[in-house]
Amino acid sequence: MPDGRTHEQVNLILGTCAFSLLAWQKAFPPELLLAGAAGFVAGTFLVTPDMDQAGKGGSRALKRWGPLALLWVPYGLVFRHRGLSHLWPLGTLTRLLYLLLLASPLLGLKLDWLSSPPALAFVAGFLLADFLHVLLDGMGSLRRVAAFFAAVLLLISGAKARQLEVFAGMEGSGQLGVSSTLLFPAYHVGPSLPIEGPWFLEASGPSPAMGATAAAEAVGAPALPSTKARVLVAAGYASGTPRPSLELKLVSPAEGLGGYPALLSAVPLEADERPLYVFQAGVSFSLTRSDTEEKR
Ligand SMILES: [Zn+2]
Repeated sequence: MPDGRTHEQVNLILGTCAFSLLAWQKAFPPELLLAGAAGFVAGTFLVTPDMDQAGKGGSRALKRWGPLALLWVPYGLVFRHRGLSHLWPLGTLTRLLYLLLLASPLLGLKLDWLSSPPALAFVAGFLLADFLHVLLDGMGSLRRVAAFFAAVLLLISGAKARQLEVFAGMEGSGQLGVSSTLLFPAYHVGPSLPIEGPWFLEASGPSPAMGATAAAEAVGAPALPSTKARVLVAAGYASGTPRPSLELKLVSPAEGLGGYPALLSAVPLEADERPLYVFQAGVSFSLTRSDTEEKR
């Protein structure tokens, strides 16, 4: 069963993808998106389905309440672990009601604000966070949840995607000075999807340094004599390691069928670790929808 830390990481990565996508598609006004994101963060870090662990060993979210975690002990007494509390969306509603009960001394009995669009957006974000938690509990593996969620995101965004790149290639990886961790050859394949401005999402695997990456890129078009090329400098967070990663990639030609070399580095987070370097080479196919050309 996934632990609390895994739940938070999965929610953080997939939530970032989902909300970036919604922002890119301008699906909702910014204030509703913010309220939804706030609900998602609250549902991920403060009030999770594992509040049913109050008084029975606790959870990461409960720890964040400090001494106030005592407020959740009655909830933990009523709901057994992974029982009704984990039955989506009923379990989510029990926690929302319990939150309202806790807040009632402060809020009074005026509850008309509950039906306001921002409050509903908050609840929607909260429901999404819980949905991912229960999904991961049920599927038991990050890979399966990420694959499922990536497929959903790609389906939603495919229609609106202005540009989609698919790449596949070979790679070798290693850590300087630690020859035993050298891995070669390995292959990787995945899609890359621009969101808005410099932001893009990339999913790639299987690879020691990659997974689902949300990243910002700086794109330059070097003046090569004959063909147009795209230089990509990106920093992201890969769920595979999980570590921040840096990427340098040259794609040429920039559109259609092309090839690329790329250098990736997974940044160590602990003092005694060494950075992991991954060198990749492969083919890419960039789809650019023609109507974006017309708009310019
Ligand atoms: Zn759980």
